[in-house]
Amino acid sequence: MLIKCPRCNKTNRLAVENFSKNPNCGACHKPLFSLPIEISQNNFNEMVNQREKPVLVDFWAPWCNPCKSFASTFTLGAEKNSSDVIYGKVNTEVELLIASKHYIKSIPTLIGFFGGKELIRLSGALSISQLQDLTNKLIHDSAQ
Ligand SMILES: [Zn+2]
Repeated sequence: MLIKCPRCNKTNRLAVENFSKNPNCGACHKPLFSLPIEISQNNFNEMVNQREKPVLVDFWAPWCNPCKSFASTFTLGAEKNSSDVIYGKVNTEVELLIASKHYIKSIPTLIGFFGGKELIRLSGALSISQLQDLTNKLIHDSAQ
């Protein structure tokens, strides 16, 4: 799967089997999943269908102020949970097809996926503790 490093923007080609090994970027050598990664139509299906790690996706847009303030909270969550969950971001202004396919009616909306299934969904900007609760639920539900 092609994944753009959230730090240096270098595109990494990564085998799904290596997701659980907390892979580093080939260019800057920082952990790829310790910041939210950008998910686009190029890797969305592969990302949400894999069964190595659950994925928590933040559907956002550049014009949305609550999305912008939530972004720093989401980044903290990614740092804290990078060994268990992949945090991803979908820009709904660019990825119209993904947004409409998942019936995104308000933003920010968070959806947790595992193995091709939507396990959790919550709209609105969350506090860090609410985000952690949601992340814990996703980890729990994906282990069922
Ligand atoms: Zn990098």
